[in-house]
Amino acid sequence: MNEKGNISINTENILPIIKKWLYSDKDIFLREVVSNAIDAITKHKKVASLGESEKPEKYRVDVKVNKKEKTITVSDNGIGMTFDEVKQYINQIAFSGAIDFFEKYKDKTDAQDQIIGHFGLGFYSVFMVSEFVEIQTKSYIESEQAVYWKSDGTSGYEMSEGKRTIHGTDIIMHLNSDKENKDLLNVWKLREILEKYCKFLPVEIYLSEEGAKKDEKQEEKPVNNTSPLWLKDAKDCTDEEYKEFYREVFHDFKEPLFWIHLKMDYPVNLRGILYFPKLTKEYNTLEGKIQLYCNQVYVADNIKEVIPEFLLLLKGVIDCPDLPLNVSRSFLQNDGYAGKIAGHISKKVSDKLKQLYKDDAEQYYKYWDDINIFVKYGCLKEDKFYDKVKDSIVYKDIYDKYHTLEQFKKDIEDKKQKDKIYYVSDLQKQAQYINMFKEQELNAVILDNILDSHFISFIESKVQGTSFISIDSGIKDVLGEDDKSEGFEDVKKYFEELLSDKNITVELKALKTADVSAVVTTNEYETRMKSMQTMYGMDIPSTNTLVLNTHNHVVKKLASIENEQKKKDVALYIYQLAMLTAGKLEKEDMTDFLRRNNEMLNKTAD
Ligand code: ADP
Ligand code: MG
Repeated sequence: MNEKGNISINTENILPIIKKWLYSDKDIFLREVVSNAIDAITKHKKVASLGESEKPEKYRVDVKVNKKEKTITVSDNGIGMTFDEVKQYINQIAFSGAIDFFEKYKDKTDAQDQIIGHFGLGFYSVFMVSEFVEIQTKSYIESEQAVYWKSDGTSGYEMSEGKRTIHGTDIIMHLNSDKENKDLLNVWKLREILEKYCKFLPVEIYLSEEGAKKDEKQEEKPVNNTSPLWLKDAKDCTDEEYKEFYREVFHDFKEPLFWIHLKMDYPVNLRGILYFPKLTKEYNTLEGKIQLYCNQVYVADNIKEVIPEFLLLLKGVIDCPDLPLNVSRSFLQNDGYAGKIAGHISKKVSDKLKQLYKDDAEQYYKYWDDINIFVKYGCLKEDKFYDKVKDSIVYKDIYDKYHTLEQFKKDIEDKKQKDKIYYVSDLQKQAQYINMFKEQELNAVILDNILDSHFISFIESKVQGTSFISIDSGIKDVLGEDDKSEGFEDVKKYFEELLSDKNITVELKALKTADVSAVVTTNEYETRMKSMQTMYGMDIPSTNTLVLNTHNHVVKKLASIENEQKKKDVALYIYQLAMLTAGKLEKEDMTDFLRRNNEMLNKTAD
């Protein structure tokens, strides 16, 4: 039964196309070959369960590397192929064997045993790394002979009687001499690839080096975990198992805050676990990681076409067995696939948040510092998500208490701040204002993360009668009365002239406290513009207001200082100190301020 022939492909020179376009990541060949091996075993399980073949003692896939021969061999004890099947499934590569198999067995298949694959030109990807490839295979049908097949992927193939005696297949890849491939003959490299793509495949995979010395004492261990936690029922999983799985997948040793076990059968088939990670302070590292699997085969991270964008701040695994992987991403977008998944997941997430809040508000507040940025991002990205979680959004105030918007509004009702919600955007720079607020028993919320300036506008547009005002600008309203008393007008004029080149306005107020000589405030519109500008890397100077405290001893005294130089020095000092406190003292002003401080220090020490 020797045969030679040409591989029937519709397109000429398909190899370069595969190399360049189909798989940007060469390592994927191993995923393809190993998942074919798993497919073959899944199929054998099926025929064995129907009594058409005997079940082997153990199903397994072996990946063996041979440095001398420069080969990687992937073996399985699955269904195997007959002579005609090799011709049909391997030679006519455009033909999908999986579809054929499905046609044959679909009436007998139960929903659980899916056949992975759908990878299009999966097998052919071996030629990305091989000079030529051999197959030794034997069908589970005992009367069929073993088959040998060999091809270099371009010019043709040859087939003859094979050597296998037990059902199953060996794929022997003779690596080509591409420099990029030289690592592939190392066990560590293959382990790395298998851990990435095959970590959760459902049949045990063993990796070994042919000809290498074996440690007999050491127990043979598969490289994969055949029953990932997401397949278990949530009710059977312990907290420790969830945490352990998190470490295993993400190598993150900070414990996750909490998690959600996903399970959906309709309209999309999906399993998974989403973790809310503990955040680090550097917001740059906020990007999470959602690993997408198709029937336990790793596909990719963070596929925006499948997973709603706002979830990408979380960490997790999602397994979508029906995902049509061989279709283009634009198809996925049009398919509404992502939309269906997003709908389900955002419901699960919002349910979880609501439940946590209801069950234990104190605990929920503890989480809030970590999760608020995620919740806000979700709200900004998806109106529907906002509608679902709006009652679980809380605000932390300057006394470290948490409130919903409604509760906070109640809290400030009888305070003289009226219906304005003051917010702190920078705890350090605004420390003085916060103190002044506290002195007067006023309250403000802390909204100091990168999304908050957007979130503030968002909430104002969503909740009628809500207006936020930065504590920088708001401080003016709560400081005290305008002071129109005699004498101070001159002081005001003096400052206006002195600071005429500074883009600042001057006001007089009788502050509650006498300690402070002056306070710098800004207007809300400019504060918001400013935070936008920083985001876009622009820097436009803003107009500040210098509020002079007419209760302050130095301010009172200023009018009576006769020495011109001394008067100027004191006035500049008042201005610079106020700017410094507001975190706004910059460039020449800062240099000048430091110079004069040093002079003063010298005088004091003398
Ligand atoms: P797909 O897996 O999407 O069907 P592939 O190109 O990966 O496409 O494989 C083509 C076909 O070759 C498979 O459908 C299967 O019929 C056959 N095949 C490949 N590898 C094996 C194997 N190890 N055992 C049995 N059949 C195999
Ligand atoms: Mg395949």
